[in-house]
Amino acid sequence: MVNYAQRFAGATVITLLLIISIVGAAFWINNTFPATVNPEKIQANLTVTGIEIESTIYRGENLNVQIQINVSAQTHFDYALFSFQRSSRISHYWALINQTFQKGNFSVDAKITPGIYNSSADQFFALSDGSYTLVSMNYTFSVNHVKVTKTFQISRTVSVIPYPIFNRLKTSTWQITGTGFNSTVIASDGTITFPSGIGTATATTVSNFTAATHLTLTLPKGLSGLLTVGNISKSISGGNETVNVAAIDEMQTITMTVDTETNSSEINITVVLETKKRVLLVVVANDRWDTNFPSSHTIIEEVNQYFQYWFNLTFKVILDIPIVYNGSTALPELFEFAKKELGNELKLSNNQWSHARGRRIGNLGADIMMINTNKTMSNYGMVIGDSMGGYNMLANAGGSLNANGFRLAPEWADNLFQHELSHVFGAPDRRTGIDLPSVMTKSETLQELTQDLNAGTLWLTLNTWLPEDIKTMATQLKFYDNFQG
Ligand SMILES: [Zn+2]
Repeated sequence: MVNYAQRFAGATVITLLLIISIVGAAFWINNTFPATVNPEKIQANLTVTGIEIESTIYRGENLNVQIQINVSAQTHFDYALFSFQRSSRISHYWALINQTFQKGNFSVDAKITPGIYNSSADQFFALSDGSYTLVSMNYTFSVNHVKVTKTFQISRTVSVIPYPIFNRLKTSTWQITGTGFNSTVIASDGTITFPSGIGTATATTVSNFTAATHLTLTLPKGLSGLLTVGNISKSISGGNETVNVAAIDEMQTITMTVDTETNSSEINITVVLETKKRVLLVVVANDRWDTNFPSSHTIIEEVNQYFQYWFNLTFKVILDIPIVYNGSTALPELFEFAKKELGNELKLSNNQWSHARGRRIGNLGADIMMINTNKTMSNYGMVIGDSMGGYNMLANAGGSLNANGFRLAPEWADNLFQHELSHVFGAPDRRTGIDLPSVMTKSETLQELTQDLNAGTLWLTLNTWLPEDIKTMATQLKFYDNFQG
């Protein structure tokens, strides 16, 4: 029991402590947030004086921007928010700068990646083929955590274009054999000019066919000869000849034997080994996929090496949008759900993903929808299509009821992605025992599965394609050259 005197003494001590702590807190606040900083006072600390932006980029590339600034006192440049316009749509790109500057003039680099989508309230478009106008940039800077946002008005157009076609043979060296061919000229455009009337010439070069799809020859009319590429031989007799070389393995020799005993003064043969880098922009509808598997981005990076090797094709994830699917295990139902979810989220013109073969205008620059779910579904994956080939969307699942509910091993995810992406370009399912092993050759029964596991030929462990499937995919790629629909 305490008496009044003790209580009074106790109250005095508590009051004193309280006063000291208030003074201490005030002192601390004063040091952390000096009273001199207010938004008006730091308005002039940082001013954007100009913006340099590339006028043309290839689809899939980042857009590089240089922001010129003038700084009058130490200031932290937090971020820039770019407003882009494509027809009537305006979308935003948020770029983190996070750099501190002292007094002076500086150039600050910002990078804009192909997915233009700032928030769910925003209007999406991918930075894909077409023209865009950078209309303004809001920039936010701070001094001692007091932030100021200013706007820089600008009107600058950026064109996004597909990569050009080029001739891989330009860098190749032809070996000419036969007598009397000293005056043969090999031009940098792949044209060989033989002198005429001196017999039979053989031109040979070695080329790596990967990522090239066609070999085209243009040769004078009336010329006869033989073209040999790997194990394919073809009679040539003037005009244009095209050989699909997509399925020819790796390094090969191209040999042309031509009869130069003609009346013309010289014979020009142009050989074009056509290739073009292709980039397709992928939007991922992500149903908790990352719970058990590496990110879709990581897996696609792994798969890219195979598509790049054969087709010069790169998939680029521009958005990874979370969805929560609680419907049935039927993959077609998941497709319907994701098409609408993505359509609403990105405010696509039809309120849903436009599915058909090829790049669709309704998807506002995104090319492929990939749905990845951690759930065990009816199958490991699916692509819907018609007799011509697959539509521009695919699904991958964490397990398959069709395979007795067996879960996908994380290290098999790249093989599954490759399998489903191949369906998009028309490669069909193949079957163990009927077809040779490949990423498309599935084991349907337990017996086939055991056989494949023992032989190391399980499709979920392979990254190879059969030559005929490479050929099909090379042909179907044309649907992804331009927007359709
Ligand atoms: Zn399949």
